[in-house]
Amino acid sequence: MYESLNNQQLISIANEFGSPVYVYHAEKIAQQYHKLKEAFSGHPTRFFYACKALTNINILKYIKSLGASIDCVCINEVRLALKAGFEPKQILFTPNCVDFAEILEAQELGVNINIDNISILEQFGNRFGSGYPVCIRINPHIEAGGNYKISTGHIDSKFGISIHQMRHIERIVKTTHLHVQGLHMHTGSEIKDINVFLQALDIMFDMARHFPSLEFIDLGSGFKVPYKDGDPETDVFTLGSKLTEAVKEFEAEYNRTLEIWFEPGKYLVSEAGSFVVKANVIKQTTATVFVGVNSGFNHLIRPMFYDAYHRISNISNPNGAERIYTVVGNICETDTFAWDRVLNEVREGDYLLFHNAGAYGFEMSSNFNSRFKPAEVLVKDGEAHLIRKRDEFSDLLRNQVEVL
Ligand SMILES: *Cc1c(COP(=O)(O)O)cnc(C)c1O
Repeated sequence: MYESLNNQQLISIANEFGSPVYVYHAEKIAQQYHKLKEAFSGHPTRFFYACKALTNINILKYIKSLGASIDCVCINEVRLALKAGFEPKQILFTPNCVDFAEILEAQELGVNINIDNISILEQFGNRFGSGYPVCIRINPHIEAGGNYKISTGHIDSKFGISIHQMRHIERIVKTTHLHVQGLHMHTGSEIKDINVFLQALDIMFDMARHFPSLEFIDLGSGFKVPYKDGDPETDVFTLGSKLTEAVKEFEAEYNRTLEIWFEPGKYLVSEAGSFVVKANVIKQTTATVFVGVNSGFNHLIRPMFYDAYHRISNISNPNGAERIYTVVGNICETDTFAWDRVLNEVREGDYLLFHNAGAYGFEMSSNFNSRFKPAEVLVKDGEAHLIRKRDEFSDLLRNQVEVL
């Protein structure tokens, strides 16, 4: 049975490795993976971890050990995946607006390739013909996802090849004899309503009728996890059974079995991650009480970039009286994590915990203000392992070339 990390464990990790620190809990990742496996057990389904959410090599190795495959959006992620031990066939490369040379590198490495642009499709077809199978990323123009910035299926989106360009895709496939092995879509992140997936699946079936020898349909991701108390999680069990039914029905007509692929990022690693920071100062102004912590959007940018809500707990004083705070960072830029947040009384030196920090947390961090990127710790079988050292001063100068 999975049990989340308790405050004492997190405090001792922060004491041992310093703060701010990202802490990942392996067993929580496993729990999420097994939930997906079970929910879709009615039909052959593969899960490609969208590793841009969190690419620490230990996380990649751990997720591989669970049996997952991996989705990469950059050739360097492909290389990291190979280094973590994934086989080329377990790797799906889903780039956007990259140079054709990057696609060629992926082809040489032998990984599955998703093509999301007519011009690339044409170049690839001219070069490889039927010699290297491809998957085509379709933009179904479904509006979905928690925030416009994380929706990718809308009409103004740069992702995918529009369903309205089907004739053009067909022309290229016919002329170059490309072997289309799969169709892909990814409409966005944080989809609460499973009907969005089912609606997308119907569109994919319509597309599939144009390609007689598909092996899979890839529905991308968008699985939502709860960020706020009472937030829903995508109901993967209902989705799993409805999807199984729909695919079986389509297979009868299509006369082939079709694997279903998904690319969960957030779903696997978001809740497994905790970000522990320290309250540097309590600052009473005429308008509010600020808690200034030893971090900022240089370490966790989701609240400022996506208006994301992260639950915050005072793990040093969990029974303190509830007070209202505005939680801000220490960088010279307005970096507000949360306005008007009720927290157990915060004293200078207390550790605060940001929940759901596993996905797009460390991964989007930077050295803005010449601050160090935080350390990362993995807790597995009750033991805490340092999996990335905090930056040190020399890291700030590492790639700089002093000419003066
Ligand atoms: C980012 C991304 C995902 C993962 O999205 P989550 O919301 O983190 O699950 C999946 N597929 C592609 C192509 C992506 O770019």
